[in-house]
Parts: sequence; structure tokens; C-alpha cells
Amino acid sequence: MQRIDTDVVIVGAGAAGLTAATELVKAGRTVVVLEARDRVGGRLWTDEIDGAMLEIGGQWVSPDQDALIETLDELGLETYPRYREGVNVYLAPDGTRRTFEGEIFPVPPATEQEIVTLIEKLDALVAEIDPERPWEHPDAKDLDETSFARWLETQTDDEEARENIGMFIAGAMLTKPAHAFSALQALLMAASAGSFSNLVDADFILDRRVVGGLQQVPLRLAERLGDEVVRLGQPVRTLRWNPEQPAEGVVAVTEELEVHASEVILAMPPVLFSRISYEPPLPRRQHQLHQHLSMGLVIKVHAVYETPFWRDLGLSGTAFSPYELVHEAYDNTNFDDPRGTLVGFVADEAADGVFQLPAEERKARILESMSHYYGEQAKHPVVYYESDWGSEEWTRGAYAASFDMGGLARYGADLRTPVGPIHFACSDMAGKGYQHVDGAVRMGREVAAQILEGARA
Ligand code: FAD
Repeated sequence: MQRIDTDVVIVGAGAAGLTAATELVKAGRTVVVLEARDRVGGRLWTDEIDGAMLEIGGQWVSPDQDALIETLDELGLETYPRYREGVNVYLAPDGTRRTFEGEIFPVPPATEQEIVTLIEKLDALVAEIDPERPWEHPDAKDLDETSFARWLETQTDDEEARENIGMFIAGAMLTKPAHAFSALQALLMAASAGSFSNLVDADFILDRRVVGGLQQVPLRLAERLGDEVVRLGQPVRTLRWNPEQPAEGVVAVTEELEVHASEVILAMPPVLFSRISYEPPLPRRQHQLHQHLSMGLVIKVHAVYETPFWRDLGLSGTAFSPYELVHEAYDNTNFDDPRGTLVGFVADEAADGVFQLPAEERKARILESMSHYYGEQAKHPVVYYESDWGSEEWTRGAYAASFDMGGLARYGADLRTPVGPIHFACSDMAGKGYQHVDGAVRMGREVAAQILEGARA
């Protein structure tokens, strides 16, 4: 067992952990980052599969994500816009295929009116929510006791309107069914992106990608920090600390290393906090609150074709339907790539369903669904790959964690509160940029500032 002494030990080399490390090193602190995997990036992972460069994890950047954009600029990374010329596709409840432009789906006029009204109502409510403190809204408790599905039912009898609005937060963001999370959690999701309208607007929320892939952010941050700082293949199994004497600091233990530090940052999804043994245990409050957070489930499907054939058909590649297995899909062609890539998403209970099928059958079902949007050619990609983060031991779902019913109002205020020398930071805890890489960067910066200011519980 090798002993290392440092100022701060960080558990997790994702965007949050590496941002915190960078900020602390800039301020003159010594840092060691312990990463369980044999790569950095966590939920950011750009890889070549069967000769195609794929963004297995996070990839899109939206114009409001200024913390991430600053990091991209600082690292000299270029971005390019998602392809969006041509018309979008919507599939109606009876399977009818309709093309459209703009954000509102081509639904019957009465449903369209209901959708517009719901978006206005949600925008108004979101404007009252501080994403850093949603629990402070005067109706927070009521909103957190009402599922988003139930809340939508109280607003409109129009099922198609409810399904569409529900999809933007449920399948598309929290990747849980709309009955499994609260209206307050839905409002936080929208407030974290500026407004509900921003979430509905794919051209906003899925605006740009990074040339060469978004994993370059953690890769470049780690390269700057160096191998002595960022240690791969080091799952932290034990954290020792003395609640009576927090000034004594902490010891983070892996199979090979024992890192002694004044403070520790847990920069990993909260669903993994219980993978570490705490000696002595964390306080009751943390034990409880961490159990009320869970990951969503989504399959990110990558289908690469010899050419972006849908463009010749006048299609943008953007496609939605709450009635389809693949509820949303986009043109995801790489920068300067003659081949065309489509990316589609299968979320929550639909993902449960297809995961019960043998791989070949699942692929056939998913491509069949994509063909409803783009035609028969969609069934014949040259490269096909399913990102399955639910099977990743060091993530366990996607895109991020959210509270169960009532959890946000009850526990939210304590989520980021340090416990003695133990600090918490990850995108799952962010206000602005919640669930996104931008939120991870913000949390990394915030926790570094907290440590530099000497803040302790
Ligand atoms: P993570 O990236 O999860 O990093 C945590 C790290 O901790 C991991 O490397 C893990 O291995 C490590 N770890 C865990 N436990 C231990 C332990 N005991 N010891 C040592 N190390 C440990 N965001 C966007 O902004 N745009 C998108 O388009 C987008 N799309 C997404 C698509 C998918 C399929 C997924 C999965 C995510 C997507 N996201 C997107 C979300 C975004 O990727 C994440 O919110 C963000 O990358 C999380 O960063 P993080 O540092 O907070 O956590």
C-alpha cells in the first residue's frame, strides 16, 4: 500500500472532479484525483466503434451553458452546429407521419392550443423557481407531492398534449416515467436550462457539438494535471475520517493507495456514494437523502450510414413521437464526415421492455422504429451501437440522478452541504446546468471555491 499526502483528494475524474482539481491546483493546492475506471471522463466518453467515432455519453452544448463554453474556449476546443436544415418528423398516436418546422408538433388545432397554453404555464412557473433553491418556492411541498403526470392531468384533458409535454421532461431529460418524479423536479429540470421553452426547442438545447468529441474536456484537463495527480484504476473503497476532529482530515483508501488529505471531494453520481465504506458512517441525514436519489434509464442508439440519406429527402433528421419506441432522434453526423449518423433514444419503461429481448431482436425493433421516421433505409446502418449506461458499474444509469417523489423539497437543501471534511460535487447536484456537463463544471468550480474559502459544516 503506497501512502500519498496531499491537500485535497478527489474521488472521480469526470468533468466535475477534474474541474475542481484544476481550480484547486490554480490556487496552489496539491491534489490527487482517484478514478475507478481506466479512463477519465465518466459520463463523457468518445470512442471509435467499428470505425465510427461515437459520443457514447454526453455530447451537446447549448448557448446558455456558459461555464462549459468557457472551459471549451480555455481548452481551445471548437464547436459546430447540429444539422437542422429541412423538415422535422412527428408520428401521431395512430402512427401517421407528419412533417413540420418550428417547435410545435403538427397536432390537431385544439391540441396545439393546449400545448401552447401548457408551455406558457410551465414557463411562468419556471420563472418563479430558483434552480439553486427550488425548495424555497412557496408551493414547493405541494408541487413535490404531485407527480408530473398527475400535475399535467390537472391542467388538461387532452391526452396528446399531455404526452408531448410530458415527454420533454420524462423520456427526454430525467429518463423516468412522468409518474415517477414530481412536478417540482420537472420545474427544476426546466429552470436549470433557463425556461421550459428552452427544453422544447431542440435547436437550443441540442445546439452544438465539439469537433473530435466532448470527452476531450476531461482528457485535456487530466493531461494538464498529469499522471501523478490523476490516478486511474483506483476505485475508492474506504473513507476514514474523524467527526470529532474534522481538522485531522480524511484518508481515501483504494486497493493500492492510501491518500491522506485535509479534505475530500466526492465527484461522482450520488447513487454510488454507498459503494464507499465510511469509517465512521456518514450522518443519518446523508444516509437518508442519498437513498432518495436514483438514476434514469436510457439507451442512446447510434446508427451510421454510408451517407446522410435523410438529408436528400429534405429531412433535418429531427424526429419525435411519444408513441414510438424511439421517442426522439437527430442527425448526429460527425464534423466533416461523409458518412451520416442518426442518434435515437429509448427511455425508461420502453428501455426496460427492449432490454428483455435478445440483442438482435432489440436492434431490429429499434431500427424498425427509426424507419417510421426516416423510411426503410434507416433499417440498414453500417455501424450500430447502443450506449447502455445502466450496465456501467461506475455510473448505473443516465443521464443523471433525480429525487423520488417528495425528496427534492425534503432533502434538496442538504444535497451539497459538506460533512466535516467531505464535500460533494457532480452534475446531479447542480442547479443551473443540472444533469448536464455545464452543471458538472459549475459544481466543480463551486466545491473548489468552498474549500478555498475554508467552508465546513
Ligand atoms: P461523472 O461523469 O459520472 O464522473 C464521476 C466519476 O467518478 C466517473 O469517472 C466514475 O468512474 C468515478 N467514480 C465513481 N465511483 C468511484 C469510486 N468509488 N472511486 C473512484 N472513482 C469513482 N450532458 C450534456 O451536457 N449534454 C449531453 O448531450 C448529454 N448527453 C448525455 C448522454 C448520455 C448517454 C449520458 C450518460 C449523459 C449525458 N449527459 C449530457 C450528462 C453528462 O454527461 C453528465 O451530467 C456529466 O458528464 C457528469 O459529470 P460528473 O463529473 O458530474 O460525473
